[in-house]
Amino acid sequence: MDKDNKGSLKIYSQRCFLEGRLMPASISATEGKITEIVPEKQPDAIDFGNAVIMPGCLDAHVHINEPGRTDWEGFETATRAALAGGTTSVVDMPLNSSPVTVSVKDLEAKVEAAKGKLHCHVGFYGGVIPGNSGELAGLAKAGVLGFKCFLVHSGIDDFPNVSRQDLEEAMPVLDKFGLPLLAHCEFPDKEESSALIMNPKSYMAYLESRPKKWENDAVALMIELSEKFNCPVHIVHVSSAEALILIQKAKEKGLKITAETCPQYLLFDAETIPDGNTLYKCAPPIREKENNLLLKKALKNGILDFIATDHSPAPPEIKELESGNLAKAWGGIAGIQFLLSASWTALRDEISIEKFIPLLTENPARFLKVDYKKGKIKTGYDADLVVWNPEETFVPQEEDLLFRHKFSPYTGKRLTGRVLSTYLAGNQVYYQQKITSSPQGIWLRQA
Ligand SMILES: [Zn+2]
Repeated sequence: MDKDNKGSLKIYSQRCFLEGRLMPASISATEGKITEIVPEKQPDAIDFGNAVIMPGCLDAHVHINEPGRTDWEGFETATRAALAGGTTSVVDMPLNSSPVTVSVKDLEAKVEAAKGKLHCHVGFYGGVIPGNSGELAGLAKAGVLGFKCFLVHSGIDDFPNVSRQDLEEAMPVLDKFGLPLLAHCEFPDKEESSALIMNPKSYMAYLESRPKKWENDAVALMIELSEKFNCPVHIVHVSSAEALILIQKAKEKGLKITAETCPQYLLFDAETIPDGNTLYKCAPPIREKENNLLLKKALKNGILDFIATDHSPAPPEIKELESGNLAKAWGGIAGIQFLLSASWTALRDEISIEKFIPLLTENPARFLKVDYKKGKIKTGYDADLVVWNPEETFVPQEEDLLFRHKFSPYTGKRLTGRVLSTYLAGNQVYYQQKITSSPQGIWLRQA
């Protein structure tokens, strides 16, 4: 590759993911776009041998927390970690930054804070909270890719959860812009769990404190409102397998329902999570093995559309790492760097690689409906690519983590599927475990 020729590449492998299949090809790009794909190995192409070349992953659910909670996570660190994991585009949630992104002014603060720090491409969601329905049209016009709401306390007081009435005000606006409403689906029917208060280090007590019923009830409500207002609804981080039946029925009915799950719900099981280890705490919780097998099946048969990390880190004190107190600890998992490897480790025995790749590429790209050609290797598409070895295993250590706080439930676990190199708009940005370029990501917005 000519180093001075920005956005240009020529790479070859015996396993390029083209038209849903792995096949030998040389891929060329100029000025950030894929310009030529030929089946033979071209003499001037970099040869990646038997490694897989596929589109860069799109992670449609991350919390970067800048501005205002940059000590939790920031654009620079989060987007570097994304590249190291083969992710070339992420979409940032409207919380837990401060301000939260619930007005055009807040979005401007986000965009300003992100300037010059984006190692991968980043889009933004706006928030739906009680009383901000007047801001939604402005946010939509300013380029957000969707809106997020909570049906349960969000974890931070400046992003209150919505009631049915708030949703009935917001949904007609969203329908007008065709933007999805992403819903955190847990609908509490009790205040606090006495079992967890009595025994705050017990993972089983934490699991019982957020039952499947909460999730099922909230999913049912969101489906009902989606039908009533013809509003696209996306169920984030599905963890209850019982909710899959509701989602399947809604899809069969032709409703505008999509859904995601996360690697942590696929790779870990409640039965083997140690007590007093807050690294695994997220909401909704990681459930039992039998439940999680059904989530894997749902990715195979299309009830779940894609996988996203819900990367939501916090500083060690707020994560209660020392006390191990699951009642008090921040509910969020740091995983932006492991979308590809953790998902593949969880699914490689369940799903063929050809069916797996779209769950991280084409499917989230279709959901995000961005005016950018992403998620496929095709002439005219953006040359955001990842080169990885699906057979190679590795054990991530704390020093390998590129996000802000060096702890994650994925460290010390043997993962399968190692990223060799990442390309952003035709430029090599990650190679041999190092970020090899200055920030080159752009703001992904609705045209
Ligand atoms: Zn989240």
